[in-house]
Amino acid sequence: MRMILMGPPGAGKGTQAARLVERYRIAHISTGEMLREAVAERTPLGEKAAACMKAGQLVPDDLVIPMAVERLSKPDCRAGFILDGFPRTGPQAKGLDAELKTHHLALDVVLVIDVRDELILERITGRRMDPATGTIYHIIFDPPPPEVAPRVVQRADDTAEAVSARLAKYYSVTALMIPFYQQKGLLRRVDGNGSPEQVTERIMAALP
Ligand code: ADP
Ligand code: ADP
Repeated sequence: MRMILMGPPGAGKGTQAARLVERYRIAHISTGEMLREAVAERTPLGEKAAACMKAGQLVPDDLVIPMAVERLSKPDCRAGFILDGFPRTGPQAKGLDAELKTHHLALDVVLVIDVRDELILERITGRRMDPATGTIYHIIFDPPPPEVAPRVVQRADDTAEAVSARLAKYYSVTALMIPFYQQKGLLRRVDGNGSPEQVTERIMAALP
């Protein structure tokens, strides 16, 4: 299974990807997670990306495309992969297409998780992550267990201001790729409103 997960920030891409990779035993490629690691490790890429990320802006294509292409060449991607948060721009989609063609590979599905804007802010501001395991929680909808709660962290870009910038970018840039994948016959849309379990069921039903 080679798949792209798209959707606004807070749609549940990371939450659903974690379930899907367990089921299909494929690689989970989150460009947001890779960039956050680069920022934490203060690599040259991280130094260049940090300010854009904090402000909720997209990191430039010339940094993100090579990073994603390199990740796709790793052996664990041979069994398949879920791209979570990539591609996010037209040039990224073209870069991905070219890379897959070079290796005679094709995508199976592009899955868009749609969530109402009103729900996004509460999902994002309540999001917490366990730095030890990478597990995503929510202070109300999916609280961390007591032994994990003291160590959970909030992302630097999960502020109300950065969320509105990210949401605007999603609709003005990223969502414009939807017709591109629709034309290729790869698009499936899933209603992301409802419990994580309900959304997982809808995704399973929508997969080819
Ligand atoms: P979310 O989970 O809110 O959708 P991500 O974790 O995927 O966010 O990404 C966090 C931030 O990292 C983005 O707001 C952006 O600054 C940067 N980023 C991640 N993926 C990309 C990408 N494909 N292109 C450009 N910037 C990206
Ligand atoms: P994304 O990767 O699309 O930005 P996440 O998977 O990180 O989204 O989810 C954002 C926040 O919302 C997290 O705190 C997560 O626990 C919570 N969440 C995810 N799916 C749901 C859902 N269906 N209902 C309620 N909260 C959810």
